[in-house]
Amino acid sequence: MSIATIEISVSALLHNLNRIKETVANRFIMAVVKANAYSHGKNQLATLLSGQVDYFGVSRLSEAIELRTIGIQDRIVLLEGLFSDDDPELLQTYQLETFITQSNQIEQLKRLDPKFDPIKVWFKLDTGMHRLGFSIKEAVRAFNELKSIKGIQLPINIATHLANGDDLSSSFTLNQIKQFDQFLSQIDEKLIGLQSIAASTGIFAWPTSHRDVVRSGIVLYGVSPFFYDEENKATAKELGLKPAMTFKSELIAIQSIQKGESVSYGSIWTAEKDSYLGVVAMGYGDGYPREIKANTPVWINGSLYPIVGRVCMDMLLVDLGTNPKEQLGDTVIFWGNDALPVEKIAYLNDMSPYELLTRLTSRSQIKYVE
Ligand SMILES: *Cc1c(COP(=O)(O)O)cnc(C)c1O
Repeated sequence: MSIATIEISVSALLHNLNRIKETVANRFIMAVVKANAYSHGKNQLATLLSGQVDYFGVSRLSEAIELRTIGIQDRIVLLEGLFSDDDPELLQTYQLETFITQSNQIEQLKRLDPKFDPIKVWFKLDTGMHRLGFSIKEAVRAFNELKSIKGIQLPINIATHLANGDDLSSSFTLNQIKQFDQFLSQIDEKLIGLQSIAASTGIFAWPTSHRDVVRSGIVLYGVSPFFYDEENKATAKELGLKPAMTFKSELIAIQSIQKGESVSYGSIWTAEKDSYLGVVAMGYGDGYPREIKANTPVWINGSLYPIVGRVCMDMLLVDLGTNPKEQLGDTVIFWGNDALPVEKIAYLNDMSPYELLTRLTSRSQIKYVE
């Protein structure tokens, strides 16, 4: 059994889903489960949420096929569309919906087999993210080409993605929404299906982005997409969300160390007094980053202790002080409770909570509780 454990609270997940539903009223909800559901376990999560959300969003065809293979019958959407060597007929075989983000994907759809049911597509408009999607200049022409393809269903859903939704003071988002609406006004109303703009930031900060379908990634997992600092009023707690994941392991050794001795690879930390070190079964092999800064806290028995020395592949060290009450086998929490939200660990290390979550490895065992 692995000792690094990703514990997922089912009740927290369901709480967050309700909180999202409450916030966007009667919109359709897409649960974004790419990257193994931000390390929360895509298959288990989809099984749990099946029937309680309207869509699952993934970023790879293989992820969608896996969900079908385990029996998920809900609607599934490919958020990046097909890649150049993906077979478009698999969309029909597995009844998948897809974003269409560029002209070569329109070309791919011309290979759909007219014998089978037409597929649902989402036309992706680039309103300022400049990553995927048709530019405003080419969008009307591309949309008209797409609508005449035999293998697709009409009307066509229309989507875009916000680039600065976490910046509450900027007019960038309102401008993106305006461009979206301008595009809609240029095409035949009868061809416009569902609209989707909001991901997590849109859900909580930009009500005019809610439209028909909201795409909920990180907030479903109980993590705030907004900038974290101690003053911030948009922490997960303020948003009414509960972290679903507790990332933890245990103390596998307690060592005494003398003043002046240094620890772990590179000897980058030296004890300033005689004290005790806890050795924790957690390392970058589990996905806890090697570049984590000295003094990043962990939680043990209600107290916070600093990480010292370099994080190793399988282990790391914490300074337990001069008179520790901790014992072998005690639980060490890296993030996921009120004292240590993942946003805080990210903030202290100039990282993003999205990255901390998704870089966890398969050696960390996922366990569901309640
Ligand atoms: C990943 C992704 C989302 C979810 O983003 P969150 O910020 O986690 O809610 C939504 N839409 C698209 C297109 C994505 O790629």
